[in-house]
Amino acid sequence: KQRTVLLATEKAFAAGAVTKIESVVKAANYTLKKLENYKGKDDLLAAVEGADAMIIRSDIVDAAVLEKANQLKIVVRAGAGYDNIDLKACESKGVVAMNTPGQNANAVAELVFGMMIVSARNNFDGTSGFELVNREIAFYGFGAVARAVHKLAQGFGMKSFAYDPYIPADKIKEMGAEPVSSVAGLFEHQYVSLHVPLTDETKASINKALLSKMPKGGTLINTARVEVVHEADMLEVLSTRSDFCYLCDVAPKDIEPFKAAVGDKFGKRLIFTKKKMGAQTAEANDNAGVAAANQIVGFFEKGFEARHLEVSLADGCLEG
Ligand code: NAD
Repeated sequence: KQRTVLLATEKAFAAGAVTKIESVVKAANYTLKKLENYKGKDDLLAAVEGADAMIIRSDIVDAAVLEKANQLKIVVRAGAGYDNIDLKACESKGVVAMNTPGQNANAVAELVFGMMIVSARNNFDGTSGFELVNREIAFYGFGAVARAVHKLAQGFGMKSFAYDPYIPADKIKEMGAEPVSSVAGLFEHQYVSLHVPLTDETKASINKALLSKMPKGGTLINTARVEVVHEADMLEVLSTRSDFCYLCDVAPKDIEPFKAAVGDKFGKRLIFTKKKMGAQTAEANDNAGVAAANQIVGFFEKGFEARHLEVSLADGCLEG
């Protein structure tokens, strides 16, 4: 059967990645339909009709989209996390949901270090900064991205700590990080880096009680999801502690009070990207896009159900 794969990306992939996706799809004798840089949900609703498979990025696939997608069998998020896919609606329509774990991990890890260095060197304003060597970084969640950050941290001569209830402590130790037994335990270290998926449990979980425990120069790095941090609490901590830093891949929803709170030091203590940038590298686009296309072909041709959504929800490790 001639299958149609819809590439629906509100924020387009790098052109090179699209070419690579197209060649995987063509080699399987499928048709690639592109809906890139679309402007509104209506465009997506119109495009999904007749598609057998979908490749998306942060695009929202909810009940309304699934309702229109009369042929859809599989949706693959080229990236980490499932928080933009309505998994319950997928399940009730018999649509398989997958993501491409780990494909953008290095890209995100390099961004983490980019932001840490800009912060430690006072955004290159000529004043004396500090070095990362011998400093401590603690990971909330120790999946693909956290491990990639940990690897770079080892190169920088930093000491790593990690809390992840789904990974046995001795495995964390084996990987060269010190296991931590509670979320609160992470906040004893200068840097805390968030790498958990956005779930009911993690949403707004980084609050004042935790942030207030951080030592002098405490720095929260958030390349997970902006919603994991309790925004009002973060604003309060930034306003009351002039030593505190927040480094975030995408700005808090209401950025203006944050800018006002850090005043003219903006750019050292508060670093954020204008759009989500973690996975925005040529390499990560290629890796995630091609993996998504291969997963779709594998699913139809070989019956690969590599990771059905129920499995991924149950094992906890893939969600993200
Ligand atoms: P992953 O699935 O490899 O790792 C997530 C880890 O979190 C797993 O090890 C899991 O066991 C752990 N975890 C789940 N719930 C937890 C909890 N309540 N407490 C502690 N640990 C928990 O995913 P990843 O590729 O490392 O990505 C992590 C998150 O980062 C994603 O969910 C996504 O939201 C975000 N992300 C953002 C970007 C970006 O562009 N900024 C790119 C990739 C990933």
